[in-house]
Amino acid sequence: MLANLAYLDKLNPEQRRAVEHGVGVGAATGPLLVIAGAGSGKTNTLAHRVAHLIVNGADPRRILLMTFSRRAASEMSRRVERIAAQVMGTSSGAVTDALAWAGTFHGIGARLLREHSSQIGLDPAFTIHDREDSADLMNLVRHELGLSDAKSRFPTKGTCLAIYSRVVNAQGDLDEVLKTVFPWCAMWGDQLRGLFSAYVEAKQRQNVLDYDDLLLYWAGMMANPAMAAEVAGRFDHVLVDEYQDTNRLQSSVLLALKPEGRGLTVVGDDAQSIYSFRAATVRNILDFPVAFTPPADIITLDRNYRSTQPILSAANAVIELATERFTKNLWTERQSNAKPQLVTVRDETDQARYVVERVLETREGGTPLKSQAVLFRTSSHSGPLEIELTRRNIPFVKFGGLKFLDAAHIKDLLALLRWAENPRDRVAGFRVLQLLPGVGPASSGKVLEAMLDAPDPLRVFVDTPPPPRAAEGWKDLQELMLRLGQRQAGWPVELGYARHWYEPLMEHTYEDALVRQADILQLEQIAGGYPSREKFLTELTLDPPDATSDQSGVPLLDEDYLILSTIHSAKGQEWKAVHVLNVVDGCIPSDLGTGSTHELEEERRLLYVAMTRARDDLHVIVPQRFFVTQQSQHGDRHIYAQRSRFIPRALVPLFDDILWPAVTPASITGIAPAPVRIDISAQMRGMWSK
Ligand code: ATP
Ligand code: MG
Repeated sequence: MLANLAYLDKLNPEQRRAVEHGVGVGAATGPLLVIAGAGSGKTNTLAHRVAHLIVNGADPRRILLMTFSRRAASEMSRRVERIAAQVMGTSSGAVTDALAWAGTFHGIGARLLREHSSQIGLDPAFTIHDREDSADLMNLVRHELGLSDAKSRFPTKGTCLAIYSRVVNAQGDLDEVLKTVFPWCAMWGDQLRGLFSAYVEAKQRQNVLDYDDLLLYWAGMMANPAMAAEVAGRFDHVLVDEYQDTNRLQSSVLLALKPEGRGLTVVGDDAQSIYSFRAATVRNILDFPVAFTPPADIITLDRNYRSTQPILSAANAVIELATERFTKNLWTERQSNAKPQLVTVRDETDQARYVVERVLETREGGTPLKSQAVLFRTSSHSGPLEIELTRRNIPFVKFGGLKFLDAAHIKDLLALLRWAENPRDRVAGFRVLQLLPGVGPASSGKVLEAMLDAPDPLRVFVDTPPPPRAAEGWKDLQELMLRLGQRQAGWPVELGYARHWYEPLMEHTYEDALVRQADILQLEQIAGGYPSREKFLTELTLDPPDATSDQSGVPLLDEDYLILSTIHSAKGQEWKAVHVLNVVDGCIPSDLGTGSTHELEEERRLLYVAMTRARDDLHVIVPQRFFVTQQSQHGDRHIYAQRSRFIPRALVPLFDDILWPAVTPASITGIAPAPVRIDISAQMRGMWSK
């Protein structure tokens, strides 16, 4: 072993045991599970383990590291680099570059499929559909099968896709999934089966894969012994973070990669499992030890290094009340006199004002905006705060909400590139052709249909005479597609051509074309960071950048900005100060109507995840009035909210219980009245009814 391993001294004995597990005894050893509570250093330990493996001679190009987001993967690579560089003295970036297989399950899957495409009968030019494209294709197929008749109340395209995805990811049975998760769609079992089979066929004819396919095809590849051996043979070590949020399909891929568990390390926290709505199952982590003979080694960590004792005590108390038992009792040496704050405010407007005031105050105290975060249950809940931040000119970035790429004009341009990449991609083609004035669904559908099974689909398009009312634009598009198809210009110059064609159409379509033009410039900048069109499209589809306050894509790294994030997207991260919005029944837990115990418990874990993101300051905010969007006959309305049931009266003493703005008891009674609402349109309609 090398002498200077100072980084090991910073770890506690259990962490060190996890880092050193099997290192130095020759080949990769048996499987390892690190199961431990929030902030106990799981991710940090995993980074140290990877670095330690490399320092001890493991080839970083043969290490597969899977994390929950691309952001988490690059953060992890940077950490590994920092640790390993101390010892190895390598040039900066060398380790990160060599650690090429760090990413999400989906990202890694896409890459493996592309590299092995010829062996599994997949055209390597396949393009990837994001959820929206997938829903569009599902809709198209639904239409073709005559299932979209509004009167029949057949499930919407979104629901169809959700059912399909659930069945695939849980590796379950359609009828079972319908019965347990989508009971109101159970009567459509046969039609759905037909729809899904046509959907799969459509994807194959068009040479597109959806997100689920990236896992499904990967699993298919692993089901063939020879292929499995080849793929598995690429990696000596496989390590996975946040294992509690993987689904069956992911665990089956993992077990196929390392059937005996040699060189396999997974870490996670069962108390933080929050993705069951995407078919993740906590059983994966609980069953991991016994999936192997001999069983996996288990290491637990119980010292929390993140939060102060009062914050940790409050979070522990919340999860303590869970019906399931989690065997961890976290402790910390970070003493503090400051309890977390339980802040009652009048409504969401006051909530936004409170947050902004505290955030600015904390920044005055020397904590930059970037070290502060505001967390919420659902993306739409940050609306009033976004308004207040914009009004006060405070920059922010929002994670897990609207993506930069969701904007229509960006999607247009990307569809164009995707169509050039894969001319069979019907959803992309459909979008592009209809950008042309005078071209509708019928004429575009006809061309695309003709392209589907042609040996050279691009040629078919280029030879198609323009529909009567679209002569000029059509010819330009044909020329452009030919040019993009031949790839002579190279990347990212191709994007320049695409833009040149698109911008006049954009000006024609959108009033605020100037603003949108800035976005396109931003897109060009992002594009410059990718070596090829294919890499650019794949990565952006799988993990698009988040929207910023000025809607112009990725913020510059040296800017300071506040973090807004859904709790789901905040997983694994930490901030000095954290505000949790709308901690009221109806929001956390979200759905009181249908909430089974199982769903309710997941909501409790969600609050636990939110609270454990805070290092020094935690504000849990309870608006007394809360706006809900409802699809029921009541429409949107304010409701009088109760503090979340997950913080019952008995837990309140763990917090500083404050009312903001400070009010006298007399004025509290004045809080109640909701704004007057009258339904004038109903009155108008009523005028004509008998
Ligand atoms: P989560 O469950 O939220 O993902 P985690 O268990 O992955 O949390 P980390 O994010 O790895 O925890 O670590 C939490 C914090 O504790 C980080 O700031 C990390 O640097 C710090 N930390 C971890 N281990 C140690 C240690 N041995 N000494 C000092 N700080 C540590
Ligand atoms: Mg972590």
